[in-house]
Amino acid sequence: MARRKTLQFRTELEQLLDIIVHSLYSEREIFLRELISNASDAIDKLRFEALTRPELLEDHDGGDESRGELEIEIEVDREAGTLTVSDNGIGLSPETIVETLGTIARSGTQEFLKRLREAEASERPELIGQFGVGFYSAFMVADEVTVLSRAAGDGRRGVRWTSKGDGKFTIEEIERAERGTDVVLHLREDAHEFLDEARIRQIVKKYSDFIAHPVVMEVARTEGEGDEAVTTRTREVLNSRKALWLRSPDEVEESEYHEFYRQIAHDTRPPAKVIHFAAEGTLEYRALLYIPEQRPIDFFWGEPRAGLQLYVQRVFIMDRCEDLLPLWLRFVHGVVDSSDLPLNVSREMLQRNRVVGQIRKGVVNKVLRTLEDMKKDEGAAYEKFFEQFGVVLKEGVAQDFEYRDRIARLLLFASTRPGEEWVDLPTYVERMAEGQEAIWYLTGERREQLERSPYLEALREKGEEVLLLTDPVDEFLVAALGEFEGKPLRAVDRGALESESLPTPEEYEGLFTFLKTALPTVKEVRPSRRLRESAAVLVADEGSVSAHLQRVLRRLGREGEAPERELVLELNVEHPAVRALRELYEADRTDPRVEDMGRLLYDEAVLAEGSPIDDPAAFAARVNALIEQAARA
Ligand code: ADP
Repeated sequence: MARRKTLQFRTELEQLLDIIVHSLYSEREIFLRELISNASDAIDKLRFEALTRPELLEDHDGGDESRGELEIEIEVDREAGTLTVSDNGIGLSPETIVETLGTIARSGTQEFLKRLREAEASERPELIGQFGVGFYSAFMVADEVTVLSRAAGDGRRGVRWTSKGDGKFTIEEIERAERGTDVVLHLREDAHEFLDEARIRQIVKKYSDFIAHPVVMEVARTEGEGDEAVTTRTREVLNSRKALWLRSPDEVEESEYHEFYRQIAHDTRPPAKVIHFAAEGTLEYRALLYIPEQRPIDFFWGEPRAGLQLYVQRVFIMDRCEDLLPLWLRFVHGVVDSSDLPLNVSREMLQRNRVVGQIRKGVVNKVLRTLEDMKKDEGAAYEKFFEQFGVVLKEGVAQDFEYRDRIARLLLFASTRPGEEWVDLPTYVERMAEGQEAIWYLTGERREQLERSPYLEALREKGEEVLLLTDPVDEFLVAALGEFEGKPLRAVDRGALESESLPTPEEYEGLFTFLKTALPTVKEVRPSRRLRESAAVLVADEGSVSAHLQRVLRRLGREGEAPERELVLELNVEHPAVRALRELYEADRTDPRVEDMGRLLYDEAVLAEGSPIDDPAAFAARVNALIEQAARA
């Protein structure tokens, strides 16, 4: 690749750049934060690689004596109108740069773009920040960006990448002595404020003060006047580099916690909770953890991953250490800094490491305790948290036996209790009615729909509360939980409602036997204890999947995975319609209307469980025949 090549950005990236270039942003200063953060990541990656290949650290030949230390440098050239952010980190090779700076290799990019287009102009930088397309934010202030880079351990084989943000970029192989990357921004006319050193100092202080590596700027100072004037150039470190988690909590300002959170979580909103603690004793580590206020937009895209940043004695080891947090706490962001791990830990070693296991325990404990306190003392804030992340927490009940009971106590459910938005399991159990056999629940798509379900009629009359579950994971949650404080969890639309089933009144035996034969999908017809106002419902066996889960599986095309549901048609023998049908049957057992009306009751029951009926045309024909008869009567 000796010659210069011009390539197109992938369509998605081109669209993104178009939005970035043509929108006016109020907060465009964040581009500097993004570039410094990338530079810092590049240094961290180098340091991590160097744990196993120390020669990479020797690989620098800039001729500039400062280059030995790992650092980020900002350089302003007023005459040329350029601002350069450099690092001596891992660098990019001619091969990798096409992929890394020509595509967005992220799932959900399309959806992100759609949101970006729909958002108000003022909300866009926040969205861009959250999605993490950091590098491209340079085009908010630059009409041309040039990247000069050379990968660690790659001789002098460097690369120059240039783009005006117009859909194309150019790459060219160059010779380059310095390891790492220079990002050169040719600033737009309207962005010359970023050539001002004081302005840069202020931005770095505001956004990048905690970056672990020094951010240096060469500053010219002129002393004296006229002929006497002497200009000296000094290197100034702009950031304090003080790792927040090593300080004592009462010395840290709230705004500092928030800024650090913004950096590691790419979230511009303040966090819902900050958890900062030091563990002492047999194990020494410090942790700074955050619970976000809202789900990031890409939270449910792609593979779920949990992770905290891991430091060992202040040295950054890795960005998303999955062994420090269970998946069901994957919304938590933060840092753990341990003194008990060796600096050369590998990923494989972490998985089996005892110290890591103990830290994980400590971290989980702290997060759970924070949530427990929040639930007790800050109800409204906890409800907000639960609306955002409750569905993730629920996964823990099935995944983590050790914490099952504690997690169960943290869950909030909608219920049939009038005037209450949520109930938790301890409260439910406490106010169970005398003689109530189980913790009742009903699963379905929407709360409003469930509230009107016929399955609730008798229980409502008896004053027994029913939990209304509408998250898809709820099915698995109740299956995994099984019981709470010794009380079984039972679905109101499955099994017998009470341990003793209702005997079929003698006068109904004939009709029920007839209907069972006429409706082959039904294995039994029996009188119902569940109903008051309604005439019919379908009930499956205790152990079978719910109608709701069956619908979910059908939508996913995975119906085959659910066992066939054995259905019982339950009829309300007190209901005038059911009584009338019995009379019709007794009067003339061969009257074809008996079967037709029996099928209508069955379809009514299918609709009542929220499922679509198999043959809507036949259903309509039967209803029409009834209308005709009734209207003419
Ligand atoms: P993100 O940092 O969220 O991955 P960016 O758009 O900011 O997204 O950067 C894209 C990729 O370009 C990075 O993941 C990294 O691989 C590479 N990159 C950016 N800046 C640098 C740099 N200074 N040194 C090395 N690689 C870099």
